[in-house]
Amino acid sequence: MNQTISWISTTSCGEEQELSIPANEEPCQVCQGKGLFDLHIRLVSLEEFTRWNLEEKEDYLRGGYDMECPECSGRGLVLVPADPDSELARQYLELDFARRERVWEESRG
Ligand SMILES: [Zn+2]
Repeated sequence: MNQTISWISTTSCGEEQELSIPANEEPCQVCQGKGLFDLHIRLVSLEEFTRWNLEEKEDYLRGGYDMECPECSGRGLVLVPADPDSELARQYLELDFARRERVWEESRG
């Protein structure tokens, strides 16, 4: 399966260029390929739960705290560079790391 990762990079002269590298599709490790992320597994302790109001508890029990996995945007699959040691792949991984940090920050509110 031939996939590519492409992104826009800005050169030192301020020009935008599109870069792309060959990639493989792999199951997302964060959600184990489910595309959903159980927010409450990490966040809720029994002590917290007892402090919630009824509505919040009902939401929780219905799975209302499941959210789309921020890592794979709910697809359950992520693209990883086929050749992670190449110069371009390194650039991409650096960008991707920064993007992920942002997504995770936002998902925590
Ligand atoms: Zn995921």
